[in-house]
Amino acid sequence: MDSRKILIVDDEPIIRMDLREILESEGYNVVAEAKNGEEAVELAHRHKPDLIIMDVKMPVMNGIKATEIIRKFTDASVLLLTAYSQKELVKDASAAGVTAYLVKPVSEEDLLPAVEIALSQRERVNSLRHDIQALEQKFEERKIVERAKGKIMSHFSFNEEQAYQWMRKESMTKRIPLAKLAEQLLHLDKTELTY
Ligand SMILES: [Mg+2]
Repeated sequence: MDSRKILIVDDEPIIRMDLREILESEGYNVVAEAKNGEEAVELAHRHKPDLIIMDVKMPVMNGIKATEIIRKFTDASVLLLTAYSQKELVKDASAAGVTAYLVKPVSEEDLLPAVEIALSQRERVNSLRHDIQALEQKFEERKIVERAKGKIMSHFSFNEEQAYQWMRKESMTKRIPLAKLAEQLLHLDKTELTY
């Protein structure tokens, strides 16, 4: 079975059953069903789904409001199910953070590609976010190494290359990554720096 988790939200039991049947027969992992927006918020919190298939018109709390709340604690994709296709609703929906929407009644042919696109979109966003974090980390590390190098240059009257070689040697001798060494060097005061 697919490991990605799906939450189904609709106030009509028959629609929930239909959706579950279609998804499960394709190997998707339906982790829970909610019958209104309030339940959806609670179950999204508990199950951390990758995708939420969300009805709009429901008692207690509608799907747009629920999506707005869910957006604050998770980056799950939200596929909105709507009987309406008015512009106003679509505007509200995208402001609330809806990934895409389907107009009811939803056929299997419409549902499955939409589910696949919503899930892969989320994976792409997550992987981009991961890349950006790694880049930021690298950039931070480089800044620290540069600052430490400056400190070593002025302390030992080294040129840039000498300072860099000194740091590389220290990092190998002490068996710590260059960025870590740089951080330590920045925290040392002048009297502790020797070679
Ligand atoms: Mg409804």
